[in-house]
Formats: sequence, structure tokens, C-alpha cells
Amino acid sequence: MKAPLIDPFARKISYLRLSVTDRCDFRCVYCMSEAMTFLPKKDLLSLEELDRMCTTFIGMGVKKLRITGGEPLVRRDILTFFNGMTRHLDSGDLEELTLTTNGSQLEKHAANLFAAGVRRINVSLDTLDADKFAQITRWGRLAQVLRGIEAAQAVGLKVKINAVALKGFNEDELFTLADWCAKHDMDLTFIEVMPMGDIGNEDRIGQYWSLKDLRAELETQFRLTDLPDRTGGPARYVRVEESGQRIGFITPLSHNFCESCNRVRITCTGEIYTCLGQEGHADLRGPLRSSESNAPLEDAIRAAISDKPKGHDFDYSRQKVDGQVSRHMSHTGG
Ligand code: SAM
Ligand code: SF4
Repeated sequence: MKAPLIDPFARKISYLRLSVTDRCDFRCVYCMSEAMTFLPKKDLLSLEELDRMCTTFIGMGVKKLRITGGEPLVRRDILTFFNGMTRHLDSGDLEELTLTTNGSQLEKHAANLFAAGVRRINVSLDTLDADKFAQITRWGRLAQVLRGIEAAQAVGLKVKINAVALKGFNEDELFTLADWCAKHDMDLTFIEVMPMGDIGNEDRIGQYWSLKDLRAELETQFRLTDLPDRTGGPARYVRVEESGQRIGFITPLSHNFCESCNRVRITCTGEIYTCLGQEGHADLRGPLRSSESNAPLEDAIRAAISDKPKGHDFDYSRQKVDGQVSRHMSHTGG
């Protein structure tokens, strides 16, 4: 048994979020500019390397693995990778294998994901209006995503919807989204827009809708009870007393919860980011490729975690964007 991964602030690292591609079939306006340049394929970790990376982390105590991107389901043969992870679920070393997706390819992959051992997924969906959906994702089609969600539920996947709260965009859909999720037995989490990456001419401050305000709006119609549920992440949950529905709030801007952070992120090129909101990172691809033994990789992982910062510095409170990080969310994986 290897020593657990503990960072300098005594936080135990048990959750790995892995980006398997920086590519995407959408161009959400808060995430990417329309003319994104993507990495050359040769820079990406191969499917075998992704497997070895995850297997090493699992051997060091990671219990939960979330696959993200870019859009993870556009990576060619990604199901081969998921199928490989099934052995860690079967052995009990890994407790949960999950993914965050835009839903566009779910109709095709839902059954195979379930067969690989995935039981819960997060689908990002900011609006239920087809025109607005096309506008916010630039290239996405709502009907395709809704068919994907339906397919996922039909095979037994539990779906949680993630919606970015966007001023002037989905404010008027707050109750529609909540009702729709309740009706379809889905949890719903709102996310504050974070200052990550150059997004062309879009206006960050203009996009920002504080979840404090969103919650106050919900409370005009619902009784909300704070829940103690914690996932080691930034989400905090309430129960809607009228429907029993669970609603989450990810509030990196209006209230951060870095003190209980249990996660690290790996990009599709094998960089480890120990904080979503800081530039600091370390290369794991070099150590992984340097030897057939996992020892150099394990040393590099421990070194990176011994440097995990206390928290991010995102801040809009002075009416300007502070703490911006230059990389896109699709690079680190959301
Ligand atoms: N393509 C997949 C998807 O959209 O679910 C997975 C990757 S995406 C980067 C993960 C999450 O990050 C999505 O829920 C997306 O809405 C969110 N996201 C992207 N850019 C963001 C930003 N600047 N601030 C807050 N959330 C963001
Ligand atoms: Fe693609 Fe997800 Fe970014 Fe939208 S949020 S552009 S779906 S990676």
C-alpha cells in the first residue's frame, strides 16, 4: 500500500479529473473563441498512456475519476479507455468512474458507458430554448443533446445537469430549468462563469451572474433548505422543499470553498494542475514516457501535490476581472 497523496494544507487527494482531448464539437461563448487552435494530435497522451496515468493515480489512492475535455466523447475510441478503467471498478480500487459531457454524442455512447461501469454523468446545458442553445454553443443543436439525455436515462445513467449562470441569457429560464430537471428526476447545478482563457470579444463581467442573486431569485418561489452534502468540491447543495429536488451552486467567485478541495486535474497532454484557478502546473508526460517503471511518474505526482496552492484568486469585485488564468477551461478540463 502506497502512502496517500496529502497536500501541504493536509487535504487528501482522492479525486482526479482527466481531460482526454482539448477538441470539441461546440464553441460555447464563455469557453472558447470561435477560431480556436487545437493541439497537434502527437502532443496528446495516447489511450494507453491515459490508462497508465489513471492506473498510477488509483494506485496512489485516487477513488474517483472524472473524464472531461474539451468534449470527451469526440475523442476517437474513447470507449476503449473507459473499458480499461472497468477493471479498477471491479477490483474496488476505484469507487466512481464518471464524465462531464455536452451530451452531443450520448445517444451513440450511453449504453457502452453504462456497460463500462459509469453510473452517473454530468451534462452541461444552459438553456432549453433551441435558438438560445444554438447561440450560446455556436455549433450545438439542442434536440441532439435532449435525445442524448433521454438515451442516457433509458440505459440507467443518473444525469445531473450543469448550467452556467449567465446574466441576461438564462436568468429568465431559472424556474423553467429547475422544473424541467425536477420533472425528469435530475439534479441541477448552477456554475458561476470563471475568467478562463481568451474568449475573443465576449465580455466576462457582462456574463457574470452571481449565484447569491440567483439563489435569492429561487427563494421568491421555493423554500430552500441547505444540505450538508459535500463532494470535496466547490458545490454546495439545497433541497427544494416543494419538489424534493436537489440544486447545487458552484460559486468560485461569490464564495470559494478551496479549503476542502480534494482534487487535481490532468490535461490531455499530461500536465498536472493542482488548482483550476492558478497557472502553476507540472509536466507528467515526460516522467511517464521516460521509463517503463512508474517510479518517475509517481515521484513527479508527489512533487506536484506537495506544491498544491491554497486556492484560486478569481475576483470580479472591483468591477474588473482579477485572477484571470490564460488557459481555457477546455484545456484543463472543467
Ligand atoms: N465539453 C464538456 C461539457 O461542456 O460538459 C466537458 C468540458 S467543459 C470545459 C466542462 C464544464 O465547464 C461545462 O459545464 C462548461 O459549462 C464549464 N465551463 C466552461 N468554461 C467555463 C467558464 N469560463 N466558467 C465557468 N464554467 C465554464
Ligand atoms: Fe465544448 Fe464544453 Fe467548452 Fe462548450 S463548455 S465549448 S461543450 S468544452
